[in-house]
Amino acid sequence: MSDTFDDFLPEALRFTAPAPLVDIGANLTHDSFARDLPAVLRRAQAANVTTLILTGTDREHAEQAIAMARQHAGKGLGLHATAGVHPHDASRWDADLATAMGELHRQPEVVAVGECGLDFNRNFSTPAEQELAFEAQLELAAENGKPLFLHERDAGQRMREILHAWRDEITDAVVHCFTADRATLFGYLDLDLHIGLTGWLCDERRGHHLRELVTQIPSTRLMLETDCPYLLPRNLPAKLKGRRHEPALLPWILREIAHWRGESEAELATATTATARRFFRLTADAAGETGRDDMTHEDS
Ligand SMILES: [Zn+2]
Repeated sequence: MSDTFDDFLPEALRFTAPAPLVDIGANLTHDSFARDLPAVLRRAQAANVTTLILTGTDREHAEQAIAMARQHAGKGLGLHATAGVHPHDASRWDADLATAMGELHRQPEVVAVGECGLDFNRNFSTPAEQELAFEAQLELAAENGKPLFLHERDAGQRMREILHAWRDEITDAVVHCFTADRATLFGYLDLDLHIGLTGWLCDERRGHHLRELVTQIPSTRLMLETDCPYLLPRNLPAKLKGRRHEPALLPWILREIAHWRGESEAELATATTATARRFFRLTADAAGETGRDDMTHEDS
């Protein structure tokens, strides 16, 4: 696989991270990537985003993410998947789905349970349905020992109460796309959770409070994500046709967060990648990664 940029990204958006990055939240099973996935993966590699965690937000998308990780492994890019049921779809939770998700969690490509959690902002499923599906997935994670990939919007208080009750049963958990306030952040850190940051703080309208908060997150608890195709950073130095976010733009988010933390990009890249590799238990060396951990330890 060649690791050069094509001409899809304008010159000003062809970033290369100073150290390999892990994008812990890439929704590459989204329809908008169906047309040009191989090119998206090549650009990620060219940007030195060498490991992608493909988000599985329901059974169908988790199955697709696993298949995608399997199909594109071994090309110098580490691809892994999560498998969960998003709070929006919590009303679909039942015993059959629980069994199916438990089976998906046993696939070697799956490195986390989720995306799951609570979203009281939109309540596409009722809060009661969300809590039921969330606790059922906490139980699955407690059984299989895999870390959790969590979604929370306007539900910080309830999320902390539930996680507090489960904290001794589960291993690790990351609150992805953290955008909440100081009290919620410290509540999560007190529970020894990890925090995923997106390009939200690149948004001059609503990211201000995060710019101050990012200094409060220990680098051993901080990971980076695009949450693509959503949340295209609003302050990119050039216009992007189609306005679809993609993993190759993660170095821009790295740059912003490093700036607000008062660190070098290299420092932050190295630290967040080490944290992500430990969190998702990816033992392979990023530079020489061929995908699944069990295939990456042969010296040649
Ligand atoms: Zn989410």
